[in-house]
Amino acid sequence: MDVFGLMASYDYGEVHFERDAATGLKAIIAVHDTRLGPALGGCRFLPYARDEDALIDALRLARGMTYKAALADLPHGGGKSVLIRPSNQHFDRAALFMAFGRFVDNLGGHYITAEDSGTGLEDMEIIRTVTKHVTGVDVSHGGSGDPSPFTALGVRRGIEACVKIRLGRDTLEGIHVAVQGVGHVGYHLCKELAAQGAKLSVADVDPLKAERATREFGATVVPLDHIFETACDVLAPCALGSALNDQTIPRIRATIVAGAANNQLAEPRHGDDINARGILYAPDYAINAGGLINVAAEVTGYDAEKSRLRTMKIYDTILEIAERSSKTLTPTYRVADLIVEEKLSRVHRSASQSQL
Ligand code: NAD
Repeated sequence: MDVFGLMASYDYGEVHFERDAATGLKAIIAVHDTRLGPALGGCRFLPYARDEDALIDALRLARGMTYKAALADLPHGGGKSVLIRPSNQHFDRAALFMAFGRFVDNLGGHYITAEDSGTGLEDMEIIRTVTKHVTGVDVSHGGSGDPSPFTALGVRRGIEACVKIRLGRDTLEGIHVAVQGVGHVGYHLCKELAAQGAKLSVADVDPLKAERATREFGATVVPLDHIFETACDVLAPCALGSALNDQTIPRIRATIVAGAANNQLAEPRHGDDINARGILYAPDYAINAGGLINVAAEVTGYDAEKSRLRTMKIYDTILEIAERSSKTLTPTYRVADLIVEEKLSRVHRSASQSQL
């Protein structure tokens, strides 16, 4: 494996590896950028076929965190950790996460961890026993709790901004939103939208979740694949990544795509395709930052109301992106990246100026 070549291709200076034979820990901490503050990002615990896959996952995800935190004006850089889940089913989970906590602690706060795929509150509570550089801990220990309602609030605010720009409407009353995936975030998003008078269509592979949205919010259930063809104002992808691809984009009948899912564009070029179809796309990491905003608040002392107010500002971020996109004829996904890159280069310049 060409480790330094991989680091260069993802624009990295710093990646940490740790192996602990006693617990079976094999962990990677990727620190993408710390110009705005310590790197913050979740900890994945998944089986990987090859070490290289784990490294690429960490590199890709940590870079994404840099962009998400910077755009949300958080005092954090991007980081991510990946723990390779042992193939032996009898490993001691508590011992393994304690070893990981020591690994995090050795970085002295340069990287702050949190929950991600395959990890949960109990793991963060174990990590907390050996390091203070952890978020997503229990509410009784100053934790911020379930991030989904905050993510959903931010997505609702982003949808409101898109509706203002594209449809000239100040409220969501009567706006038809098709939600793909009504799990943690999708459910709370439906609640937010229904409270604002929106009309809902939903699709979920789990029929019980779709039925719950009908029961509680009067949503119409549509067949899984039909969600893209639903004639509506807004399509909100809230399931898995890569929802926007060569197969789905030509079928979209909404004028706005704005949802919670991470990595919605299968490839960056799909952001150009959506733009070429005249659809307003709210960049995923701009609109779904509410959960990160909420968990980041733990670092300085959690205050739910402050997190809520900060999440509400996602409206302004989406408005800024959409306005700049139409002025410069640049697709929104690219505008979001440019705003972050400009912000980071300013920090870089001011840091080097202060050394002169
Ligand atoms: P979740 O697993 O609770 O919900 C996902 C839902 O999508 C599930 O109900 C699942 O059955 C459904 N689903 C899966 N494939 C589907 C398909 N093909 N069609 C329709 N439904 C499908 O996850 P979540 O926490 O709600 O997160 C949803 C998305 O938002 C993910 O991409 C996640 O990375 C992203 N996200 C979540 C948060 C958060 O606060 N939880 C924050 C930022 C981004």
